[in-house]
Amino acid sequence: KRCFSSKNIILESEFGPVSVPDINLPQYLWKDMSKWGKKPMVTCGITGRSYTYEEGNILRLKFANALLSQLQLKKGDVIGLLLPNLPEYVIILHGALEIGIIVTFVNPLYTSEEIYRQFENADVKCCVTMPDFIPSIERIIPRLKNYKSTILINPKSEQLSNPHVFDFDKLTSAETSINLTGNEPQPKDTALLPYSSGTTGLPKGVMLTHRNLVSNLMQILNPKLCSYEPTTDEYQEVALSVLPFFHIYGLNAILNVSIKEGFHIVTIPKFTPESYLDCLLKYKPTQLFLVPSLLLFLNSHPTIKPEYLISVKEIVSGAASATNSLIHNFKNKFNFTDIRIRQGYGMTELSPCALLTPIEMKLGKDGSAGKLISGTQARVVNISTGVDQPVYESGELLIRGPQIMKGYWKNEKATLETIDSDGWLHTGDVAYYDEDEYFYIIDRTKELIKVKGNQVSPTELENIILKLPEVADVAVVGIPDALSDEIPKAFVVLKAGKKISENAIIQHVNKEVVHYKRLAGGVNFIDSIPRNTAGKILRKELKVLSEQKFKN
Ligand code: AMP
Repeated sequence: KRCFSSKNIILESEFGPVSVPDINLPQYLWKDMSKWGKKPMVTCGITGRSYTYEEGNILRLKFANALLSQLQLKKGDVIGLLLPNLPEYVIILHGALEIGIIVTFVNPLYTSEEIYRQFENADVKCCVTMPDFIPSIERIIPRLKNYKSTILINPKSEQLSNPHVFDFDKLTSAETSINLTGNEPQPKDTALLPYSSGTTGLPKGVMLTHRNLVSNLMQILNPKLCSYEPTTDEYQEVALSVLPFFHIYGLNAILNVSIKEGFHIVTIPKFTPESYLDCLLKYKPTQLFLVPSLLLFLNSHPTIKPEYLISVKEIVSGAASATNSLIHNFKNKFNFTDIRIRQGYGMTELSPCALLTPIEMKLGKDGSAGKLISGTQARVVNISTGVDQPVYESGELLIRGPQIMKGYWKNEKATLETIDSDGWLHTGDVAYYDEDEYFYIIDRTKELIKVKGNQVSPTELENIILKLPEVADVAVVGIPDALSDEIPKAFVVLKAGKKISENAIIQHVNKEVVHYKRLAGGVNFIDSIPRNTAGKILRKELKVLSEQKFKN
């Protein structure tokens, strides 16, 4: 469906609008729960620790009660989750959301400084973590202004001597009466605060409201876009969930979709080929949610045999582009004739989904990230002229719909630069659409680097490198990589008369960042960083330079 106004070509989802009820996320997700209360909700694939829907629901309400009554947190406060994928994630997340607490989350492998930058900006009052990650949080607590308390899963007894440290089990086992009335969040309230660098600069808090998240779930769960077998006494879909819940794809498009549909979610706290294999064999997942690097892993790992995926009915890949050859090799290796492999496209600022391959298409179209999901509109605008592009002509992808974030946390300027006055979110992705309105994401105008689906902000790495006294100027760009999709590479200008080795710069960055942000693409010394008249780094030129060096 294409709608031509005097100046715009607006593409509309063929799956119709969504009529989003005026309820918050917990109300939407947990209202059908009693239908499958006795079914397993979430199980740790490594330890076997498991909760049914009924148990999970009770525990999350107890947890909410404890946050209010014992930790004295209140609606609108922010808690930070420093956790890998664990069954308790569901309880903590949906306990906090029940009482209007805003949840931000980080990769637990982040360095203290990376956690600090996010928790300080988000004004985190309480962190939920586990003993392994205590050193990371303890180092920064003195610098977090309004910080009150830490909640530990499986603490050692000596860790509980501090009155500000609470044991998750104790908080959720107390037999006190639960009173949560008066704390329900409104649909317009912020629920989640994931961090994303968006189209430029440092990572920013993305305010996703209850309504944004409910909308996106309803948009994805349109029967033409998803068809899961209903959960009954006899049947339950099993989702093996290795993608992190600390990214919005793992959190809303996997975890929350799974809860809404009554899936059995199997979590793996740390991906290793062995743990993944074990879980495939033991839990026989029916639904796999992947990123291209995981498809590549399944394709190339010699011990993963076709029979290991025999239970799988559908695979969805998102967060980065899965190439045709990747998908075809996968189908060939696993002998999949009747299985759906679909792609999705999204962005943290879109809660996260905007495009998905419809279910009628078993494989989608080669190279396409799918069609507009229900209630979503798009435009593709020429990058130089801003004029809307016709079919097959590429330009920046703009999206409009109820899933678009409320804005960036405490950063109105960045919000105004990203969402225009007509409500279009400027994605910073370059795309085109074909005559059937399948979209193809072919490039980015934004700075963002994606390593195995993880965000890397060049500005963040540039700021770290600029701390070195020898460095006069720096630019970081993403260069293509077969294994990781992209890897960061730095171009460095040294101060006159100063010297530092490539390795010293790499080591300096390694200390400050999580593994996937490291300068795996190396460091090149150059005389000057190419900039436009406004001082903006011309990253494309550096990418070309890097390709030329590679060829030589
Ligand atoms: P994030 O906010 O971390 O989810 O990153 C969003 C970005 O990931 C998008 O703006 C795209 O650049 C990229 N991305 C997500 N899904 C796809 C896809 N299916 N194909 C190509 N790029 C994608």
